[in-house]
Amino acid sequence: MALYSAPRGTQDILPEDQPYWRHILERAHYIAQLYGYQQLDTPIFEDTAIFEHGIGETTDIVEKEMYSFLDKGGDSITLRPEFTAGVVRAYLEHGMHVRPQPVKVYSLGPCFRYERPQAGRYRQHHQFNVEAIGEQDPAVDLEVMSVAWYLYEDLGFKGLSFQLNSIGCPRCRPNFLTVLVEYYQGHADDICDDCRRRLERNPLRLLDCKTESCQPIIDAAPSMREYLCDECAEHFQTLLGYLDSLGRPYTLSHRLVRGLDYYTKTVFEVWAEGIGAQNAVCGGGRYDGLAEVLGGPPTPGVGFASGLERIVLTMKHQGVQVPALPAPQVLIASLDEQTKLMGVKLASNLRVAGIGALISFGDRSLKAQLRQADREGVAFTLIIGEREAEAGQVTVRDMARGEQHLVALEDVISWLSQRLM
Ligand SMILES: [Zn+2]
Ligand SMILES: [Zn+2]
Repeated sequence: MALYSAPRGTQDILPEDQPYWRHILERAHYIAQLYGYQQLDTPIFEDTAIFEHGIGETTDIVEKEMYSFLDKGGDSITLRPEFTAGVVRAYLEHGMHVRPQPVKVYSLGPCFRYERPQAGRYRQHHQFNVEAIGEQDPAVDLEVMSVAWYLYEDLGFKGLSFQLNSIGCPRCRPNFLTVLVEYYQGHADDICDDCRRRLERNPLRLLDCKTESCQPIIDAAPSMREYLCDECAEHFQTLLGYLDSLGRPYTLSHRLVRGLDYYTKTVFEVWAEGIGAQNAVCGGGRYDGLAEVLGGPPTPGVGFASGLERIVLTMKHQGVQVPALPAPQVLIASLDEQTKLMGVKLASNLRVAGIGALISFGDRSLKAQLRQADREGVAFTLIIGEREAEAGQVTVRDMARGEQHLVALEDVISWLSQRLM
């Protein structure tokens, strides 16, 4: 019978890769807390309607990529393809508008999209997601962008920069869309099939087409930034002023869009150097119309999501070192059933005292047990032989120095504690 393998587009995160993950999670928690963001965990699945409305029915995610199914009660549920819609649902459901605004939350966990798998992109992937809901001040846009920036900087990424755009609001965007559609109608014969569909259903998305033949048309296309209303223009200028004062490099890009009505104003990505054609390590923006789409009162919001697989890939590309995970520092070697019994008991006492301890299983020679201690990289091997057992002692072998000490059984914990702290 053939062995099973993990489903296409998923991966096992093996012990040797865990130091990256542990480090990223630890830094993400730390930095979020530094900026005053609190953790919010939402369910891995939600009512399908939340994503249909909260992401938009004309997006690739909703049209092609969702894991949706009827549960045994006949309800349509969907594994979350992203966090924002569920987070805003939670904000509304728990009446968080009565708390001090903005409500600043972050989440960490898996998301699911039925996509073509490629480097750093998985059907089950993990995100660090940050949202600030209930405030329209551009200083909040800056803060959210800064959380992402600081995380990558802290992780040791090189060549960071923002890609930035404003996509306006429901007051100013329709004018722009009229101009954009007119422009594209003049190129209707040259655009790809997807773009022909976008021209009908969701023209803003024309600007982020990835098809080669559409690129010159996008290059010459009109830019939303030329059509911003006073409020949107001022919001954007203020944000740019903040970025300038912090000395954060950014590139204005009219290609950066989120083609849905409830995304407004700021759209951004963070790019890192040398990670291939797709340089973005995160994407985010403002969504002042989203809460209303989900049935709530008008509530501004801004956030970003960063794929952790992509962060791990970037760290490996850029040769970023991560600290090793803590591991047991002591191995107890014994020579027969009786001394093994003592070893089991000693190991138990060491762990209670906070000293990580391994015992050797099976019937192995002392030499084999010492080899194991070497492989495990422990600092000390405690050898309990017949002689030691009779004298109530343990031979402690310092693995780095190759020295051995005889230590009374009752003193072993304090002896080790002094040397391992
Ligand atoms: Zn506007
Ligand atoms: Zn196209």
